Amino acid sequence: MASNLVKVPRLFGTNGIRGVAGKEIDSDLAFGVGSALGTLFPKGRVLIGRDGRLSSPMLLEGVAAGLLARGNDVEDRGLITTPALEFMVKNTGSSAGVMITASHNPPEYNGFKVVDSDGIEIPRSKEEKMELLIHRDRWRASCQPGRRVIREGRVGPYIEKLASQVLARDGIGNLKIAVDTGNGVAALTTPRLLRKLGANVIAVNDAIDGEFPGRNSEPRPENLGSLSKIVKEEKADLGIAHDGDGDRAIFVDETGAVQSGDRTLALIEDELLRNHPGAKIVTPINTSMVVSEIARKRKGKLVLTKVGSIEVSRTILRVGALLGGEENGGVFYAPHHPVRDGTMAAVMVLNAVMRNRRPLSKLLDRLPKFHMIKEKIPCKERAKERAIKALKTKLKGRISNTLDGIRVDMKGRGWVLVRASGTEPLLRLYAEAKTENELLEILDEFRPLVLNAVK
Ligand code: MG
Repeated sequence: MASNLVKVPRLFGTNGIRGVAGKEIDSDLAFGVGSALGTLFPKGRVLIGRDGRLSSPMLLEGVAAGLLARGNDVEDRGLITTPALEFMVKNTGSSAGVMITASHNPPEYNGFKVVDSDGIEIPRSKEEKMELLIHRDRWRASCQPGRRVIREGRVGPYIEKLASQVLARDGIGNLKIAVDTGNGVAALTTPRLLRKLGANVIAVNDAIDGEFPGRNSEPRPENLGSLSKIVKEEKADLGIAHDGDGDRAIFVDETGAVQSGDRTLALIEDELLRNHPGAKIVTPINTSMVVSEIARKRKGKLVLTKVGSIEVSRTILRVGALLGGEENGGVFYAPHHPVRDGTMAAVMVLNAVMRNRRPLSKLLDRLPKFHMIKEKIPCKERAKERAIKALKTKLKGRISNTLDGIRVDMKGRGWVLVRASGTEPLLRLYAEAKTENELLEILDEFRPLVLNAVK
């Protein structure tokens, strides 16, 4: 099609459109996004929602104006999490959705996640069509504007559906749970759900604030010191931390230790596969061996994808998987909705704790242990392709997978992955092994190869 002939600048990255608000992301672009979407989905109502960033209301008006001008009806859901908006798009028979958010990025950023009628982010092919329309300023003409209705704060059906996924409600009243929503919009969902179920909730950073005064919006260990302290001081059973738009969850066990997304994913996987032997699990190629080990042990079928939540969601649908997950705290539970959902992840970890009647640290201790390292190697945008190509030649005969970058597996001992970052001028080097020594050996061999390739 035409997009192959004309070089259209890419707007969409690994996860929607993102950039600095007022610079790359302004009201003109918002109007373009609304107009392109209205042109691509000419019928029906589009749901729009936003996170708590200061620039989000302005961008939401731009998207709404574009859609209304193309004749689409708009339902404004106001402040909402990304997974709640996605769930609503699917379950209200809407034709599409737009979430105004930059997820976990710093406060000055913003962006758009565009949702298809099935409640999942649009596939890459539709992203390219939208880019072409925006690039050419070419919109569908409409002589009659659409109608706009405002329905803010209505997440009841979403909360109900999540509550129905809780397996045993007796006993939840004895749990004390610290929930750090990091001044993000998950304050509207996770604490509300847990209180409804009867848990004793300690809310941390629960005032929605686009400046993120409480902590950095990304739920990484270095940003979760205060949650960890609160869990210990209050003798809570666990802590839950979300990112800015509520699609990720990282857990703190009762000892105050921040657990990696890989390990909580493996715990959820272990629980599900006990009751669903042979089920399919989808995960990107950079996920820890703990997930493949559990799949092997419990006779699950692991399906690997490229990195990116859209890849995981779309693959879950294509292969009919039960669960998907990412190392960053993304959990996709297909029976609920096959998108990354931080509040659903919280439900699944609670189910594991309640079913086993054991503390979270003990449940995670039972999982096999591995050593992993992730490094960033600076590499100019235009040099990325050449560097990967050079590595391919160098590693000829040893490469096991080129789904996303280059992966070399070392017969159960460990693996290495080198891939070009989709968002930053660097290559990412991942390595994992059974022991620390083996990990160091792998790094000693591969780090110089990568450094040489980017030269
Ligand atoms: Mg997010």
